Amino acid sequence: MSFEKRTIAVLEEALNSLDEGFSDLPPFEPSVDVDQVRSCLAEVARRMRNNYPYHHPFYLGQMLKPPHPVARAAYALSLWINPNNHALDGGRCSSAMEKEAVAEIARMFGWETHLGHLTGGGTLANLEALWVSGKLHPGRAIVASEQAHYTHARISGVLGIPFREVACDGSGRMSLPALRAIVEECDVGTVVVTVGTTATGAVDPLPEVLALGQRHGFRVHVDGAYGGYFRLADNLAPGTRATYDRLAHADSIVVDPHKHGLQPYGCGCVLFRDPAIGRFYKHESPYTYFTSSDLHLGEISLECSRAGASAVALWATQRALPLAAGGQFARELARCRQAALELVLRLQADGRHVVPFPPELDIVVFAPRARSASRVSRLTEALFHETAREGLHLAKAVLPRSLFADAWPDLAWDEDHLTSLRTCLMKPEHLDWLGTIWETYRAVADRVLDER
Ligand SMILES: *Cc1c(COP(=O)(O)O)cnc(C)c1O
Repeated sequence: MSFEKRTIAVLEEALNSLDEGFSDLPPFEPSVDVDQVRSCLAEVARRMRNNYPYHHPFYLGQMLKPPHPVARAAYALSLWINPNNHALDGGRCSSAMEKEAVAEIARMFGWETHLGHLTGGGTLANLEALWVSGKLHPGRAIVASEQAHYTHARISGVLGIPFREVACDGSGRMSLPALRAIVEECDVGTVVVTVGTTATGAVDPLPEVLALGQRHGFRVHVDGAYGGYFRLADNLAPGTRATYDRLAHADSIVVDPHKHGLQPYGCGCVLFRDPAIGRFYKHESPYTYFTSSDLHLGEISLECSRAGASAVALWATQRALPLAAGGQFARELARCRQAALELVLRLQADGRHVVPFPPELDIVVFAPRARSASRVSRLTEALFHETAREGLHLAKAVLPRSLFADAWPDLAWDEDHLTSLRTCLMKPEHLDWLGTIWETYRAVADRVLDER
């Protein structure tokens, strides 16, 4: 048994309380065929058994984990209302909760004023930020690193804005000399600084990019979809900390509550430092904005209908776990990074692996030692499959030669890329489980690596 179920009873209590709020209406009970629901759910439960165990500490593969019990219960509770945060007409309290929760996120980054809202996810949030960049700097290029999320190149294509890719240094961060060369040769309107790359958790050097932006007049957009919340962690390396300390100077920031913010899917967030960019969103709607002259979130968002449940869940989670330095949420993020550091110590003591660069957040990349890149990739595949057979789920990353050049000078590059192992230690329980995780991994490595 590994699912949390005690909060189901709490949900029922809260639902009864919510129901009382509508007791002045004529009595009404919607009809439901409970047997039909039961048989459908039984089938769903059987089919969903084929998932990887995202909720279990033995899953350290992709950026996946269940929402916090508060978020899950609050989301479910609000489904009896099913609010729509497009307009106040469709979700009054959930719109207020969205504004409050988003303002708390903005404050976490150091902004007392901002313009921002929730989105369906990081892709939509980045789309809005780059759309505004295009409005402010028409025709000027958007630049992101080769380790930035692929969405930036694709969004630039959708928006019809030229896109340039910048090389990375040996740690997977945007290379400053490469950025300077691009900025000097072409008209750059916006630089995307990734704070926590998806593959390796690398943090681009924001202070230096901001300084370059001052001289060349480009905007700086921070993509912190994965890593944004590490602003609160107290155990970052000094170089990484320097970037987080400067986040308030960016022009726009994206963070995904559905990644490290303990939320169900469908929850990204985009923030702009200057509230005046709201003018770009201005539009009329003949249908929706009637019952209040207060701001309807649809007036500052590209999406129309959006789940009010996402805002309710986020607001409730931030009430339980405030976004405060030193608080429980911050301490649990720090534990994730601690788990990554401890895994690296064990890999180094073991000696049969290369860790190409130290983790900046909670993602660890490592590869089994071998003579050639193709052989490393084959051993990685074997380790990946054999650990999964033990119930231990890692991920893989296909990475370029440049990321291994410093740590592995004698590797024979018979292929341009190398497949390495990758783990996202994004559950706070990973730290407690690290010993068990390591013993399981080591037993597999003994078999796979020593027998070949
Ligand atoms: C996950 C991710 C995205 C895309 O966000 P979605 O929520 O998956 O749409 C963008 N950028 C980074 C850095 C990410 O990690």
